[in-house]
Amino acid sequence: MVALLARRALLAAALGPASRRRLPRHHASAAARLSSGAGGEPEAQGRGGPTPMLRHLLLKLRATGPVTVAEYMREALTNPGQGYYTRRGGIGESGDFITSPEISQVFGELIGIWCISEWMATGKPKAFQLVELGPGRGTLTDDILRVFSQLASLLSKCDISIHLVEVSPKLSEMQALMLTGGRVQPDPQDESAYMKGITKTGVPIFWHRDIQDVPPGYSFYLAHEFFDALPIHKFQRTGKGWREVLVDIDPEVPDQLRFVLSPSSTPATENFIQPEETRDHVEVCPEAGVIIQRLACRLEKDGGAALVADYGHDGTKTDTFRGFRNHKLHDVLKDPGTADLTADVDFSYLRKMTQGKAATLGPIKQREFLKNMGIDLRLQVLLQNSHDPATREQLLQSYDMLMNPKKMGDCFNFFALLPHHRLAQTDRKHKPESKSPLPPVAGFGELSLT
Ligand code: SAH
Repeated sequence: MVALLARRALLAAALGPASRRRLPRHHASAAARLSSGAGGEPEAQGRGGPTPMLRHLLLKLRATGPVTVAEYMREALTNPGQGYYTRRGGIGESGDFITSPEISQVFGELIGIWCISEWMATGKPKAFQLVELGPGRGTLTDDILRVFSQLASLLSKCDISIHLVEVSPKLSEMQALMLTGGRVQPDPQDESAYMKGITKTGVPIFWHRDIQDVPPGYSFYLAHEFFDALPIHKFQRTGKGWREVLVDIDPEVPDQLRFVLSPSSTPATENFIQPEETRDHVEVCPEAGVIIQRLACRLEKDGGAALVADYGHDGTKTDTFRGFRNHKLHDVLKDPGTADLTADVDFSYLRKMTQGKAATLGPIKQREFLKNMGIDLRLQVLLQNSHDPATREQLLQSYDMLMNPKKMGDCFNFFALLPHHRLAQTDRKHKPESKSPLPPVAGFGELSLT
C-alpha cells in the first residue's frame, strides 16, 4: 500500500497537470503496422528499375549464391550506404510506421516513472545511465527527460547520463536535433562514442554504435521496437529434416528475388533449432540473443534494469517476417531498402538467452503494463486540464490506440530483465526477518488504488 501511494505521488509530481508535447494530429494510419501475416497489397516495384540496394544484392547473389534471411534483412535495413534505417528511417505519421512513443507523450512519461520507481526501490544509487537501444526519432527519451526534469529535486544528487545505441546516421541526426536542439559534437574517430552533447535539459548525452561501447555502471536499458528490427534466420521442417530459408534470384522473373530452401542442413539449422521443437516453421534472431546476454551480464555486475517493449510471442508463432511501407504491408522481397522489415520477438528465446544471469518478468500485454503504471489516472488529469474539444478527442484517441486490445493493447508486450537480488528481495516481504522489503517492480503487478 505504501509503495502504491508512493507511486501515485511520484506520478502526480512527475507529470503535472498539463500536456507538454504536441499531440499527433490523427492516428488512423497507426493500425497499419499492426495487421498481421504477409498478405496485404504489396506495392508495385518502382518504375525506374531495380533500386540501388536490389542491384547490390543481385550482384552479390550472382557472385556467391543465395543468402540467409538474416543477411538479407541486415543488408536491407542497416547497409551503411543504402539500408532502410540508414537512408529512410521512416518512423512517424509521415513515414512508414508509427510507434507508441510517437502516438502519445503519456507512453514515454510512464516509462520515465518506471525508471525512477526502480531507482528509488534500489536505494537511489548516486548515478545512473539511461540507455536506449534503437531510439528512432528520440521521442521516448525526450518524454523521459521531461519527467526527470519535473523530478529535479528528487534527482538533484544523482549523476545522470544518456546513452543512445544507434547505427543510423540519419536517425542519430534527428535524435540530436530533438534532444539537444543540435548542440552536439560528432567525433567519427572516437571508437566508443561517435557523437556527444548536452540535452536541452542539461544532461550529458552520448551516441554509440554498439551496446558494448556503453560504459559500465548502474543503468536502465530501454528497447522499444528494437529487437523486432534485428535480423532473423528462418527454418522450415521438411521430410528430410530442418532446412534454412534462403533468398535467391528468381530465374523466371528478371530482377526479382524469391525464397528457396537450403538443399541440406546449414550451420544455423544445426545450432539454432531446439531438439524439442514442435513447430514446422521457426524464426530465430541470434543477434537479439547476444544483446540479451550482454544486458544480463551488465545487470548482474552493475545493477539496474532493462525494459523491452515489442510485439511478439512466447515461442509459439511461426512465420511473422513482414515489411511495411507508407503504413501498408509490403512484400518483404520487393524493393529492399525502401521498406521497414520486421519479425515478432520471441520472448521465450530472450528469456533463455539470459542464461540465468538475470531474472525476467513478463511478457505482459501493453494495456496491462500501462494500466499498472497508472495511465488511467494520467488520462483523467490531462482531460480535466484540457478544455479544447480537439485536444480532448486526441487524448482519448491516443489512449484507445495504446490500450485497445484490438489495436496496440494486446499485441505489444513488456518484458523486464533485473538482477536476481531485486526479485529475491521482493519475495522477502513475506519473511519476518526482513525489515524493509523492496516494493514489487512497477508495471508488472496490478496497481490497486483502494
Ligand atoms: N524505438 C523507436 C524506433 C524503432 S525502429 C520507436 O519505437 O519509435 C528501430 C530502431 O532501431 C531505429 O532507430 C534503427 O535505426 C535502430 N536499429 C536497427 N538496427 C540496429 C542495430 N543493429 N543497432 C542499433 N540500432 C539499430
